[in-house]
This record gives sequence, structure tokens and C-alpha cells, in this order.
Amino acid sequence: MIESPRVMFASHSPPPLLSPALLPRSSRPSLVPLPAFADNYIWLLHDGLRAWVVDPGDAKPVLTALQQHGLLLAGILVTHHHADHIGGLAALRPHLHGPIYGPARERIPGPYTALTEGDSIDVLGLRFEVLDVPGHTAGHIAYVEQDNDADPLLFCGDTLFSAGCGRLFEGTPAQMAQSLGKFTALPAATQVCCTHEYTLSNLKFAAVVEPANADVTEYTQQCQALRAAGLPTLPSSIGQELRINPFLRCSEPAVVAAVRTQHSPGARHDNQDAVAVLAALREWKNRF
Ligand code: ZN
Ligand code: FE
Repeated sequence: MIESPRVMFASHSPPPLLSPALLPRSSRPSLVPLPAFADNYIWLLHDGLRAWVVDPGDAKPVLTALQQHGLLLAGILVTHHHADHIGGLAALRPHLHGPIYGPARERIPGPYTALTEGDSIDVLGLRFEVLDVPGHTAGHIAYVEQDNDADPLLFCGDTLFSAGCGRLFEGTPAQMAQSLGKFTALPAATQVCCTHEYTLSNLKFAAVVEPANADVTEYTQQCQALRAAGLPTLPSSIGQELRINPFLRCSEPAVVAAVRTQHSPGARHDNQDAVAVLAALREWKNRF
């Protein structure tokens, strides 16, 4: 016998279909990762009519998705100048009904609106703010959604990967440390949309750096299952990355100790310094 049918009904009944509180969530654009090349993702945001893409290194997967879902290409976001992020721009321009946004401190081909930290843009009704995140390239930018306390989106290009970070092609470890610090200051639920599926190989390194980190072990199993099912491991979240990404854990005693083992006894730098730890980790990963 149900002792309190009223309460049960109240707690189990679905909210009214047009509850005003639900409207902003239900009208949120959908996020789709389009696989490209060997391990890139071109993130596509759409509202059923209009689509935006991030870092279209190749036009083909974008044009296919637009056609399959009957979407109009309404805008493009670019994080940095590498070919696997801009290679599709020329072929997409004739199909584009809107702006191309890109980094002010580096050049991408053709006309575009150059953005720098503090700029904010509208993407399908979502407000994104621009962060300067040099390190992988000198003028790399990222786009982080504002006004969403639940699970804001972060398009971080090749600066942050799940369980890893980008190679330092044009920037210094200090710059990368500062850039990653901007990401770790974001809400834990922030959805981290990286542009490469590097998660499992990064986790192998993370497990060597921190063999006792149970979160790394557990996350590896989750990601192996996703990849075995042909699914992306992304988006990740800032909260997850803080638990498993050694490059965000440069002040953890276990990470500092692991980095020390990579240097001969009496090595010259003081690895207590988080930037020196990041530099040593990045060098270690490069030869891993
Ligand atoms: Zn890159
Ligand atoms: Fe890339």
C-alpha cells in the first residue's frame, strides 16, 4: 500500500511540458563531434536549422553533416593557425552565411574577424567569451560559454587535451601554465571540447606519472569502453581533468616526485616550481 500517494505523485510526476525553468535547457543547441583525419574532431553546434563549426581542418565532414541534417552553415570559430584546424576554410566559405572568428595574434587565410581575450560573441544564442591561451601556438585562443552555470562549453583547440596538453611549438612552459590556469579556474562541469582524440595515449602517460591515481585507472577503463564502441571520449570536463590530467596537477606531490625521477640526482632546477614541473612533464611526454 502506498502510504503517501500525494507525495509520491509530486516527486515522480514530470514537470509541465512548457515549464519556463526548462525552456533555456531544452532550447540549447546540440553539440556533435565530427571525426576528421586520423584523430581530429570538428565540433558542430546546431539548433536544427543553423550550424556553427569549430576548427574545420577539412570541409568534407562538415559539408556532409550539413547536407545530411539540412543545416545552414551560420558561422565558424577558429582557435589557431595549424592546417588541421583551418584546412577546410576555403572550401566552406562559399557555403557560409555568417562570420569566421579567429585569433588576432596569428594569421589565418582569408578575411575573418580577429578576436582577443575579453571579446565576446553570440553563437546560436549562446554567449562565448574569448581567452588568450598561448603555448601550443603564440596566438592561440579559446572560446568559453558564459551565462550557463550548469555545463558551459569550452572550445580549447590544441591547448588542453583530455589527460594531456598541446605541444609547445611557439610558446613557453610559463605561457602554457598560465593558459591552463585559465581553464582550471572555470566551473568543474565545464564541457571540454578538445580537437584531438588523444585521450587513451595521454592516459598511458598519466598512469606512468601517477601510478597510484585511482581516477586515472577508472577513467582509462571508461575511455577504453567508449573507444571500443566507436565513441569519442570527449567532451571531458574540467572537474575530470583536474583529477586525471598530470599537466593540471603540477603541484601534486606525486607529480613533482615523478618528474624528479626523470632527472639525474642533483639536477639543476627546483621542481617544486609548478612551471618547471610542467616544462619537465612536457619534455618527458615528448619522448614518451
Ligand atoms: Zn595545433
Ligand atoms: Fe591540431
